Amino acid sequence: MTTLLLEALTAAVGATHVLTDGDLAGWEQDWRKRYRGKALAVVRPGNTAEVAAVVRACAAHGASLVPQGGNTGLVGGSVPDSSGTQVLLSLSRLNRMRGLDAANLTLTVEAGCILQTVQETAEAAGLLFPLSLAAEGSCTIGGNLASNAGGTQVLRYGNARELCLGLEVVTAQGEVWDGLAGLRKDNTGYDLRDLYIGSEGTLGIITAATLKLYPAPAAVMTALATVPSMDQAVALLQLAQARLGPGLTGFEVMNGFSLGLVRKHFPQLRQPLPPSDWTVLLEQSDTEGEAHARALFEGLLEAALEAGTITDAAVAESLDQSHTMWHLRESIPLAQAEEGLNIKHDISLPVSSIPAFVAETDALLSARWPGLRLVNFGHLGDGNLHYNVQAPEGQEAAEFLRDHEHAVNAVVYDAVGAHGGSFSAEHGIGALKRDDLAQRKSPVALQLMRAVKQALDPAGLMNPGRML
Ligand code: FAD
Ligand code: ZN
Repeated sequence: MTTLLLEALTAAVGATHVLTDGDLAGWEQDWRKRYRGKALAVVRPGNTAEVAAVVRACAAHGASLVPQGGNTGLVGGSVPDSSGTQVLLSLSRLNRMRGLDAANLTLTVEAGCILQTVQETAEAAGLLFPLSLAAEGSCTIGGNLASNAGGTQVLRYGNARELCLGLEVVTAQGEVWDGLAGLRKDNTGYDLRDLYIGSEGTLGIITAATLKLYPAPAAVMTALATVPSMDQAVALLQLAQARLGPGLTGFEVMNGFSLGLVRKHFPQLRQPLPPSDWTVLLEQSDTEGEAHARALFEGLLEAALEAGTITDAAVAESLDQSHTMWHLRESIPLAQAEEGLNIKHDISLPVSSIPAFVAETDALLSARWPGLRLVNFGHLGDGNLHYNVQAPEGQEAAEFLRDHEHAVNAVVYDAVGAHGGSFSAEHGIGALKRDDLAQRKSPVALQLMRAVKQALDPAGLMNPGRML
């Protein structure tokens, strides 16, 4: 069976693009190094027709497929299991820009295009593709859409779903659905596009997408502010929304411990403000220009200082300083990794519930695990926190995770549920949160999801064991 399948795959994409020997670790291990599998083969088709041929070959031989873009996903969804029977389908060679329509504000790209390249293509035309996240140098549009990625500009422009107008998909049967419409209105039946977005490779393979572009802002400006409490961080968000309206494009929060880890592991990174329990990063995009943006920021921050909402602030004087501020924020996950293994949470809550959630959950965790360290940061403007947990100082991290990860998750996710939140805001389910989904999603929702899976992938060959 294996030999026949490998022959069929070779016929589909050519021998040089079917890899079975050598070091396949780059494809078989996930970014966090928490999952490591063994692929029957890594297959690298070069266009949509070849993807369809690969899917048909796998279907004919009953082999399951794991699609992979940049392999930066954080929930173990993009690597094969350890059976040695799954075909890893890499989309990285589908990397053509198919066309930019400036009047329609759309860009059609293939799934393997790197996010940063897409941003640069839009920029070269004086336009903006606003999806932005720390993995943008290596993640792909296909992966972004398959996981409905969020990032740092969701507050203003929405997540990947809201930035996509149409898709091209290879179905589980190996047919091509051309839904590459650049339409902002289309009510002709069920929204197939929205079914595939966020489906994490479990329903079909995304091969291309028509993306929404925006006019580029005249100026983008960043500021940092220290706030005395999470309550005041939420108050600052309200004030910023009221004063800047749609000009507020980013609102990130970082607790003192997370910036402390950045200070410890990356001492060369200058931190413009002194340590504080909470620091907020604000980003403003202005259609008029830098002077206008600066005046708005200064007015906002002065009012906030007077009201006691913030204790200190620094507005970036240059693009360089803006980058440094973002670099601080984006270095938190890396500093945390330097500090040792940790438990990651990607939760969302109504913004209004966040102060109570943080106070209660911090207290519950510290009471049960004295000395536990909380690396709490994230996209406060979207109600999305990366509420991460580091073992108490002096305790072996791997041991702590082995013994307590499950219980820590239960405390956090119970609290999230009690406040009407979600246990996966932007990273998805993958292998990591599959049991949580089964346990925490309502039975009716699960039944509907299984019905969709059964209808679109009756043989269960598309990324099995992920999500459901
Ligand atoms: P992969 O990791 O290759 O795949 C992700 C999932 O999509 C897998 O289930 C895979 O099977 C499936 N898939 C991939 N391509 C396709 C396709 N063409 N068709 C069908 N299914 C497919 N995520 C956020 O949402 N916000 C963040 O701010 C953020 N920051 C990050 C920062 C860092 C440093 C890192 C490492 C990751 C971050 N992530 C973030 C997670 C991750 O980068 C994103 O989810 C990204 O969208 C994944 O893209 P990828 O191409 O790497 O996909
Ligand atoms: Zn995030």
